[in-house]
Amino acid sequence: MAILSRLKAAIADMRVVQCCFCGEAVVGEPPLEIHLALPEGASQSMFAHGECFRSCLHPSVPFLTPAEHLEADGGS
Ligand SMILES: [Zn+2]
Repeated sequence: MAILSRLKAAIADMRVVQCCFCGEAVVGEPPLEIHLALPEGASQSMFAHGECFRSCLHPSVPFLTPAEHLEADGGS
Protein backbone atom coordinates (compact mmCIF):
# COMPACT_ATOMS: atom_id res chain seq x y z
CA MET A 1 0.00 0.00 0.00
CA ALA A 2 2.97 2.31 0.53
CA ILE A 3 3.68 2.35 -3.18
CA LEU A 4 0.05 3.19 -3.91
CA SER A 5 0.10 6.18 -1.59
CA ARG A 6 3.42 7.34 -3.06
CA LEU A 7 1.94 7.02 -6.55
CA LYS A 8 -1.11 9.04 -5.51
CA ALA A 9 1.16 11.73 -4.04
CA ALA A 10 3.26 11.82 -7.22
CA ILE A 11 0.13 12.19 -9.35
CA ALA A 12 -1.13 14.99 -7.09
CA ASP A 13 2.19 16.79 -7.58
CA MET A 14 1.88 16.67 -11.36
CA ARG A 15 0.42 20.04 -12.20
CA VAL A 16 -0.68 20.71 -15.73
CA VAL A 17 0.58 24.14 -16.65
CA GLN A 18 0.03 26.24 -19.75
CA CYS A 19 2.88 27.43 -21.93
CA CYS A 20 2.85 31.25 -21.96
CA PHE A 21 4.09 31.31 -25.56
CA CYS A 22 1.98 28.76 -27.46
CA GLY A 23 -0.92 28.35 -25.01
CA GLU A 24 -0.70 24.56 -25.00
CA ALA A 25 -0.37 22.39 -21.90
CA VAL A 26 3.19 21.42 -20.99
CA VAL A 27 3.04 17.63 -20.76
CA GLY A 28 5.69 14.97 -21.14
CA GLU A 29 8.54 17.29 -20.18
CA PRO A 30 9.44 19.37 -17.16
CA PRO A 31 8.01 22.88 -17.63
CA LEU A 32 10.28 25.89 -17.70
CA GLU A 33 9.19 28.17 -14.86
CA ILE A 34 9.75 31.84 -15.59
CA HIS A 35 9.86 34.36 -12.74
CA LEU A 36 9.41 38.05 -13.50
CA ALA A 37 10.52 40.66 -10.99
CA LEU A 38 7.96 43.47 -10.90
CA PRO A 39 8.14 46.90 -9.21
CA GLU A 40 7.77 47.18 -5.44
CA GLY A 41 9.01 43.65 -4.81
CA ALA A 42 6.15 41.97 -6.62
CA SER A 43 6.69 39.05 -8.93
CA GLN A 44 4.86 36.96 -11.48
CA SER A 45 5.47 33.36 -12.45
CA MET A 46 4.59 31.65 -15.69
CA PHE A 47 5.50 28.44 -17.48
CA ALA A 48 6.70 27.52 -20.93
CA HIS A 49 7.90 24.69 -23.10
CA GLY A 50 11.68 24.83 -23.20
CA GLU A 51 11.63 24.90 -26.99
CA CYS A 52 9.07 27.74 -27.10
CA PHE A 53 11.31 29.83 -24.85
CA ARG A 54 14.37 28.94 -26.91
CA SER A 55 12.64 30.06 -30.10
CA CYS A 56 12.25 33.55 -28.58
CA LEU A 57 15.93 33.87 -27.72
CA HIS A 58 18.64 35.16 -29.99
CA PRO A 59 20.70 32.18 -31.18
CA SER A 60 23.77 33.60 -29.44
CA VAL A 61 22.11 33.28 -26.00
CA PRO A 62 23.14 30.06 -24.22
CA PHE A 63 20.11 28.16 -22.98
CA LEU A 64 19.25 24.63 -21.84
CA THR A 65 15.66 23.45 -21.64
CA PRO A 66 14.74 21.87 -18.28
CA ALA A 67 14.96 18.41 -19.91
CA GLU A 68 18.40 19.20 -21.36
CA HIS A 69 19.52 20.50 -17.98
CA LEU A 70 18.42 17.27 -16.30
CA GLU A 71 20.27 15.23 -18.93
CA ALA A 72 23.42 17.33 -18.55
CA ASP A 73 23.16 16.98 -14.77
CA GLY A 74 23.15 13.19 -15.01
CA GLY A 75 19.40 12.76 -14.70
CA SER A 76 19.25 13.72 -11.03
ZN1 LIG B 1 4.83 26.21 -25.88
